Amino acid sequence: MSEVSRRDFMALSGLAAGGAVWAGCAPTNNGQADTTSSGEADQVVTNANVYTVDDVTPRAEAFALKSGRFLAIGRNDEVSNLVGRGTEVIDAAGMTVFPGFIDAHNHPSSAGMRHLTQVDMNIRTIEGMKSALAERAQNTPPGEWVVGFLYDDTKIQEGRPLTRKDIDEAVPNHPVAVTHRGGHTSVYNSKAFQLAGITVDTPDPPGGHFYRENGELTGKVAERARAPLSRLIPGGSTREERSEGVALIGRLMSESGLTSVHETGGSSQGLTALQDAYETGDLRFRMYYFPSGGSGLFQALKQAGIRSGFGDEMLRVGAVKYGADGSASERTMAMRTPYIGRPDDYGILTMTQDEIYAAVDDAVQHGFQIGIHANGDKTIDMCLNAYERAQRDMPQADPRFRLEHCSLVDDELLQRIKNIGAIPTPFYTYIHFHGEKWHEYGADKMEWMFAHRRFLDYGIPVAGASDYPPGPFEPLMAIQSMTTRKDMSGQEWGPSQKVTVEEALRICTINGAHASFEESIKGSITPGKLADYVILGDDPHTVDPESIKQIPVVRTVVGGRTTHEA
Ligand SMILES: [Zn+2]
Repeated sequence: MSEVSRRDFMALSGLAAGGAVWAGCAPTNNGQADTTSSGEADQVVTNANVYTVDDVTPRAEAFALKSGRFLAIGRNDEVSNLVGRGTEVIDAAGMTVFPGFIDAHNHPSSAGMRHLTQVDMNIRTIEGMKSALAERAQNTPPGEWVVGFLYDDTKIQEGRPLTRKDIDEAVPNHPVAVTHRGGHTSVYNSKAFQLAGITVDTPDPPGGHFYRENGELTGKVAERARAPLSRLIPGGSTREERSEGVALIGRLMSESGLTSVHETGGSSQGLTALQDAYETGDLRFRMYYFPSGGSGLFQALKQAGIRSGFGDEMLRVGAVKYGADGSASERTMAMRTPYIGRPDDYGILTMTQDEIYAAVDDAVQHGFQIGIHANGDKTIDMCLNAYERAQRDMPQADPRFRLEHCSLVDDELLQRIKNIGAIPTPFYTYIHFHGEKWHEYGADKMEWMFAHRRFLDYGIPVAGASDYPPGPFEPLMAIQSMTTRKDMSGQEWGPSQKVTVEEALRICTINGAHASFEESIKGSITPGKLADYVILGDDPHTVDPESIKQIPVVRTVVGGRTTHEA
């Protein structure tokens, strides 16, 4: 993926859209819709096939917006009287309009930095990966780290994972770390292990694992065992680079129709980069930013008395984020039953029950919403224990405790999630994208994994989440994945969990708004709400369900500002 500077992007937009669109380029941060001073709309969209996700007026053919908010929706003739001399009129020519998509679990600013600085390992052969690493090493001073991301062990043509020896052959003189796109395991070369003083005899730390085979390190390391290696990798980047990372990822995500993103875990550097991008107009989506539980940022916010929700409609402090177990895509999540073919492997817990209790109590005492990464049924149970205890001891009217991922459930867990009003954010592109991994869970378990159907049937407001980089962030792939439950080879996984396009659309919009306490200001095309919407080249309700991900996103609009135009 190429880097696109702000200037290039504006030039492209200018060519495609004309200057009028970019008149709204500066951050619009208005308060309420100004519907009294003049009836004239800033923009009117006509001849559209609008799905509003608003039960009052579910369908419409036109809508108007003013000062960054929806002003009116209805038939063409009902909004035509709002067209004045200064109104931009967009003839949608029958195309489909949805509310802007909301991704409730994603890592955009760190992903943006990775796209800028690391080796893209989204490559399907060992040889291809080796040459990508070797090429980067050639341009890196000896002794400095070469770091790769988006590696996926199950999509390799050779049918085996990348190993320490593979990397040694390609890059003998630089330490190398290749992180799985799931983010919980990495593969290192010998130089990296040497620098960290790790040998085949180094014991596994609690919550971590060094993989060994025939008396040697394979190179793969999971979870907390990576700490002594990660510590050696300089995290150095300039403020300008971090802001450029936000601009880059903002462009990519806008192209997919995202208008709001929850960044689930970050530091003060990430927040500063977002604020910098906001000031220059490079922040192209609304952001609900989670400070990481162990971060200096979280300490500082608590000390300052700042709570979740602080900020404005573009950039807001979100929940505090913790991680309590392994990964679904890397097959390390902590379950009550073992993995298929590995009868002793129940996955990895990365927090104890007491640590979870302490984290939840601390968040509640400081006015923070909390989101804990909990994939496996074992881990979800531990989080619910803490949420239930906190509600008993320090009751809140509407805490919206979050279960990040909440991948594997059962009826008992679903009932407890419903009772306490918790919000699950299961992966919404995984069924489609990560199909090769699901046989390690088995067909029976897959009926209870990423269980969108069950959440809806229990009346749980399940939110949509990609967790990018681990999962692709394109919401149209998510709608296809949730409605077909088919992977890229056409195999179905957990077909009982299919949802309809209407339901998938709610998951990707209003439910995401609910997860950040913002359902009254966004998530549907409703007069008075923020004017976030997408125009699609076709209607996901009527196309072949297996082609939904190919529908072009024609235009993405955030608060009346066009952030992407095809
Ligand atoms: Zn995540």
